[in-house]
Amino acid sequence: MPFTSLGLVPSLAQAAADLGFTAPTPVQTDAIPAVLAGGDLLATAQTGSGKTAAYALPLLQRWLAGPAHTPRRVRALVLVPTRELAAQVGEVLRLLAEKLAPRPKLIVAFGGVSINPQLMALRGGADVVVATPGRLLDLVEHNALKLGAVELLVLDEADRLLDLGFADELARVLALLPAKRQNLFFSATFPPAVETLARELLHEPLRVDVPSPTQDEAPVVLQRAIAVDDKRRTQLLRQLIKDNGWQRVLVFVATQYAAERLAGKLHHGEIFATSFHGGLSQGARQQTLKEFKEKRWDVVVTTDLAARGLHIDQLPVVVNYDLPRSAVDHVHRIGRTGRAGESGLAVSFVTAATLAHWQLIEKRQGMSLPLEHIAGFEPTDPAPPAEAGTGGIKGKRPSKKDKLRAAAAAQKGED
Ligand code: AMP
Repeated sequence: MPFTSLGLVPSLAQAAADLGFTAPTPVQTDAIPAVLAGGDLLATAQTGSGKTAAYALPLLQRWLAGPAHTPRRVRALVLVPTRELAAQVGEVLRLLAEKLAPRPKLIVAFGGVSINPQLMALRGGADVVVATPGRLLDLVEHNALKLGAVELLVLDEADRLLDLGFADELARVLALLPAKRQNLFFSATFPPAVETLARELLHEPLRVDVPSPTQDEAPVVLQRAIAVDDKRRTQLLRQLIKDNGWQRVLVFVATQYAAERLAGKLHHGEIFATSFHGGLSQGARQQTLKEFKEKRWDVVVTTDLAARGLHIDQLPVVVNYDLPRSAVDHVHRIGRTGRAGESGLAVSFVTAATLAHWQLIEKRQGMSLPLEHIAGFEPTDPAPPAEAGTGGIKGKRPSKKDKLRAAAAAQKGED
C-alpha cells in the first residue's frame, strides 16, 4: 500500500520514499490517517516499528496545510526524554522536510550543551520544535520561544515523560500550551497507571496497538538467560564476545561507575570497548554514539540512558550484565536490537542474588527462558540459580532464609 493511500500528499510520500520507505509499517498505516483527521492518539508500538515517521509525516502535512507561515510561530512541538532521542527525531524530521515548499523551520533543543546557539537559532521564530522538557523551559524563560500557538503536541516515549521524573517539567510545559490542541502520545509501553494519566490529558484518543509478533512468527529478538556467578560476569562476557565474534554489542549495567569500570576492564582484555552514560559531557556522548554507529567500537557499556528510543542500525547483541530494574525497562533495553526487521539477540546474566528479580521480569513478560550454564562458568555461589525457585521439587525448595537473602541482594543490586 503506498503512503498516498493513507492521505499523505505526494511531496511527503516522496520524502518518505527518499528515505527508502516504500510502504508504510503497521503503526504508520494506523496512525497517519488518524493524525491527519485531527484526533488525539495513544499509540503503543514496539521500538523499531517506524513510530517516528508515523507522527513526523502527518505532523509536517498538518503544518503545510495550516495558516500562513509568517511570522513563524511554533505550531508543532515534539517532546522527548533524552538528548540523543531529540537529535535522532530532529534528524528524521529534517530529512523528511528537506524538500518541502514551504519548508518549516525546525529547531532541536536539548540540555548539556550551550544554550547560546539555540537562542541564536530561535531568532525570527520557529515552526517545529523538538526538545527535552528542561531545555525547552529554559528557552521559554529566556523569552526565546513562545508556546501559545502550538496546535500539535507529540510525546515520544510518553510513558517516560509522564512518570515522576518528568512530572514537574511536563506540567509546566503543558501549562504554556493552548488547551485546544491535538495530542499524540507514543511509547513502546504504557503501564496501566501511566495510561490512566495519559488519558486524562487526551481527548477521546484513538488507541493504536501494534501487536507484537505472534508466536508463529520467528521472534525478532532471541532471548537467552545465562546463570553465572556475580564475580565471573566480566570473564564470561569477554569469552562470549570472543567465541561468538560479536562485533557490535550494547552492554547494560546499573550505574555510571559500573559502566566506566567494565568498559575499562574489557578494554584491558583487548576488546574495543567504551562507556556511554549521563556522567559524560554532551560532546563525549555524541561522539561515542557517532563512533558506535560508525562501527568504531565493538562494545559500548551503558546505563539505562541508552535504553530508550535510540536507533542503531545493525546492533545484533544486547547484554544485560546487570538486570534492568523492571520488566518495562527490559522491554526498552532489548528493543535496541532486532530493529527494523533485523534479528537480534538479548542475553541476560542471572546471578544467585538476582534470580528472584529475573523470575519476576520473566513473569511480567509472560516468558520462561531456560537458564543456561556455559562450560567453565557453572555457577557456584550459594542458592544456585538452577535450583532456587524450582518450587515444586521436594527438598530443593529455597528456604525462607534463601528467599529473604535473594530478595535483599536483588534489592541491593537495584539501588
Ligand atoms: P523508529 O521506530 O521510528 O525508530 O524507526 C526504526 C527504523 O525503521 C528507522 O531506521 C527508520 O528509518 C525505519 N523505517 C521507518 N519507517 C519505515 C518504512 N515505512 N519502511 C522502511 N523502514 C522504515
